[in-house]
Amino acid sequence: MSAELIKGRTRGGDEWIPSFITDLNQSTCIGCGRCYKVCPRDVFELVDRGEALADDDDDWDDDDDDEMKVMAIANANDCIGCESCYRVCPKQCHSHEQAAA
Ligand code: SF4
Ligand code: SF4
Repeated sequence: MSAELIKGRTRGGDEWIPSFITDLNQSTCIGCGRCYKVCPRDVFELVDRGEALADDDDDWDDDDDDEMKVMAIANANDCIGCESCYRVCPKQCHSHEQAAA
């Protein structure tokens, strides 16, 4: 038997299914901060691109990139699944998934 999905309710009592953030593609992020501003929770933080990608296995090695900021997921468990971040991102960096209760 499959697990029940986490569900929410609108003010009018209608059911809706939140879709929680699972990933943020830092290789496409331009550090604009829109997702940080729109998020109603404490999910994101801006970090140095050089630091964020130091552990990655891609080939970001331009010195200019080290001075740029990039968004990171700091606290995924605080996400309420509203998908506002996805809607405002100009680069479609965010991935979301429904979750089991
Ligand atoms: S889905 Fe909503 S709560 Fe979750 S990270 Fe995006 S804006 Fe924040
Ligand atoms: S909205 Fe998109 S491009 Fe802008 S900081 Fe957030 S993830 Fe990066």
